[in-house]
Amino acid sequence: MTHSRAAAFLFGRSAPARLADFVDPATLFAFDLDGTLAPIVSDPALIRIPDAVQRALAELAGRAPVAIITGRSRSDALAHLAGAPRYVIGNHGAEGLPGWTERENGFVRTAQGWQQQLDILLPQEEQTGIVIENKGPTLSIHYRHAVNIPAAQGLIQHAVRRLLPPPRRVSGKFVENLLPAGAPDKGVALELLMREEKLTKGFFVGDDETDEDIFRLCRKNIFTVRVGQKKTSGADYYLRGQYEMARLLRLINRVLKRS
Ligand SMILES: [Mg+2]
Repeated sequence: MTHSRAAAFLFGRSAPARLADFVDPATLFAFDLDGTLAPIVSDPALIRIPDAVQRALAELAGRAPVAIITGRSRSDALAHLAGAPRYVIGNHGAEGLPGWTERENGFVRTAQGWQQQLDILLPQEEQTGIVIENKGPTLSIHYRHAVNIPAAQGLIQHAVRRLLPPPRRVSGKFVENLLPAGAPDKGVALELLMREEKLTKGFFVGDDETDEDIFRLCRKNIFTVRVGQKKTSGADYYLRGQYEMARLLRLINRVLKRS
């Protein structure tokens, strides 16, 4: 979809009709996990996809190709999904893409090198509440539980600037994600999966900064929805909150049932 105006509410006046015109069984339906399929909770280990979303997602997966594209590792994401959709792409796009195994191994080695450097560059986690999560091809530095959030951010930024090779840094909610140069982001991943499936249309819902890599593609053939309204987002449409996700999935299922 083009992006020449502010995002519109997906359940507003004409948006459901536009969605119905756009989607068909030859569309790749892709979703972020945290904050999109599942509500955000303070401990990320405890997220849970609501039953209504699981059911509607399973129904959709029976009608069209579905991909989950998440910042979590693939194995972590799979543990939260009732049935495995066709694709589960982890690490913001850097894990699980068809044909990328060799390059993925290189990303894992890069991330291991960063972790070794960070063990020296950052003080003990119990002193600052900073937690480094090694997710294979990428690292996430969490500071949600830091006693002094601005101080933790400063420490992390200082350390990350000294890492070799320099990572691509993507900031999230109380987290800095470090991605190897050349690693596919969510936008690259979605377009690659569409090519893999020989599909010309994509549909994506997400809520976070890394999802902007898809929203800002601004392709006419990709329908984008952000969970939560945000002025600077590149998404075409927005939902008021994660609680509207089941309603959106049911609407898509109704449209596909007709076509
Ligand atoms: Mg998210």
